[in-house]
Amino acid sequence: MPNFLRYRLSITERGVISVLKAFKYFYSEAWREKPGYVVCIFMSILLCSAQPFVSLILSKYILEELATAKRPEVLVTLALSVVIANFVIMVLLHFLKCRIAVYDHWFDNYFYNKIGLKSMTMDYSLTEEPDVLNQRRKACDGMAWYSGGIKGLSDCVQKLFSFILTFMGVVAIVAVKTPVLLVVAVFAVIGGSFAVWQTNKCYLIEFEVFPKTNRAFGYMTRDVLKPRCAKSIRLYKAAKMMREQFEKTMNKCSDTFKYTALKIGRWNCVGSVVNFLKNLCIYGYLGYKLVTGKISIGDFTLLSGSANTLKDSLQGVLNQFQDLAKKLKFMNEYVKYIEMKDTTMAGSAAIEDRNNPVIEFKDVSFKYPSSTDWVLKDVNIKIPAGQHLSIVGLNGAGKTTFIKLLCRLYEADKGEILLNGKNIKEYPYDEYIKELSVVFQDFKVFAMSVKDNILLGDSEREDKEALQNAYELGGLKSLLDTLPKGEDTQVYKIFDMEGIVPSGGELQKMAIARALYKDAPVVVLDEPTAALDPVAEYEVYRRFNDLVGGKTAIFISHRLSSCKFSDVIAVFADKTIKEYGTHDELVNQKDGLYREMFTAQAQYYA
Ligand code: ADP
Repeated sequence: MPNFLRYRLSITERGVISVLKAFKYFYSEAWREKPGYVVCIFMSILLCSAQPFVSLILSKYILEELATAKRPEVLVTLALSVVIANFVIMVLLHFLKCRIAVYDHWFDNYFYNKIGLKSMTMDYSLTEEPDVLNQRRKACDGMAWYSGGIKGLSDCVQKLFSFILTFMGVVAIVAVKTPVLLVVAVFAVIGGSFAVWQTNKCYLIEFEVFPKTNRAFGYMTRDVLKPRCAKSIRLYKAAKMMREQFEKTMNKCSDTFKYTALKIGRWNCVGSVVNFLKNLCIYGYLGYKLVTGKISIGDFTLLSGSANTLKDSLQGVLNQFQDLAKKLKFMNEYVKYIEMKDTTMAGSAAIEDRNNPVIEFKDVSFKYPSSTDWVLKDVNIKIPAGQHLSIVGLNGAGKTTFIKLLCRLYEADKGEILLNGKNIKEYPYDEYIKELSVVFQDFKVFAMSVKDNILLGDSEREDKEALQNAYELGGLKSLLDTLPKGEDTQVYKIFDMEGIVPSGGELQKMAIARALYKDAPVVVLDEPTAALDPVAEYEVYRRFNDLVGGKTAIFISHRLSSCKFSDVIAVFADKTIKEYGTHDELVNQKDGLYREMFTAQAQYYA
């Protein structure tokens, strides 16, 4: 077995249950959102299955009339009936096809939106899990070219049920006149289905290998080409290594494709041989009966057509059934992603005395899900309401992790975090995060208007006065005054060519204005100033310290200029809080880490 087959992921669930689950999921969603879609599909099934009978039965009568009386008026009526019936069926089918195409497009967007929404609302800790990222890739791929999405699924459903109805009709015709042809058709179908089953297995192999290689492709062809990677690639001459890694990925992909393409070709040939043998049997047998006068020319046409239709429809039923099962297996990866359960606990306790939050970390230890090393160990700290706390420490000391735990982006493995005496897990998540205004180091300003960037989750209860206040205090006012569309100006040019591309400082002001507008009782500033020089950073912290006033505030900075404004300072080292006290206390602590860091950076302070 080639190496790449080892990529088979245990996460791919096989079997009837997954297929039925996916079928139920997609059509119950379709019925709930757009019942007209399901009705159009049903009508199209009825018309498609009626179509073959019109030609089969009327052709028999035309041929018999030609072989006997040859009455022109009868021939014209029969010929016109064939043409008109086919015309009406085609027109109706075209109409339905158009309606279905519109619905397909709508559902494509609908299901893709659901992936986006799921990704944006699932537990934050899950968004970094390799299995979850893989599952998201599989959900997207499974809904795209492997299944054709909802359109591919509905095409398949229409064909399957049309074939079933046609099959039932022709079985009746063949069974009455030449039952032996039923046996020929069944054998031909068994052979053909086996070949199709084998080719489908090849597609499943591809599906399981590609998500991993696709992610690697995405990284190589998109992420590393971004400007922020350009400098490191040049300065460290990383291009050659990148290219080699890219080639390795491509080769892995090509090996899989070569293997499956050869196999598919082989099984397609087997299918053609089976078809050839079937035709030989049908025409040989019916030709013999015609020559020996046992059937008329009309019956010959009807029966040979019916036997072929019988084989085609039975083959169609089996092929479509396999195809449907294959597509639903791919699409079930989407269902698995969408139905992935969050793992964090969300309680229902009410937050009392919201404006006087007392935060406490009690013996808190934590390690990242993907790691076996403790990042924080036995952290104990109490932050009284209104306190301004500075957190300092070397890179990697766990400062941001401390904030992430406070924000419930991750759950502590040991110990507990309390807000006003209750474990934060006991509060509903949405209520809890109302307590916090956080500006992260890697804050994001999105491609939407400046105003919407400030409002975000608060967009439904826009407060004009508070907005103006946030612009003013956040230092955005002068920028907005220069923009013709003011606060409605789009950030970036993705949705509007008149949008602005803000500088780093302007983006930061937007992030700070957003935090100010939220007006939460606890404000956290996690080094959003990393791109600024020490003097500019000093200014931001000084202003922010004034802005938050009597609120609880937590400032993280690896530059100690921010600490001067705080009531207390916590120094993170050795995975815990190593030093705790006021600036004066710590700076006078002999052999203390804070004193060492402060002395080293003293030249920056104003
Ligand atoms: P600081 O903010 O003090 O610089 P962090 O809290 O960001 O430190 O990181 C503490 C440690 O946790 C570092 O060793 C870092 O590599 C690790 N770490 C941070 N984020 C993750 C993550 N998502 N998964 C695994 N390890 C992480």
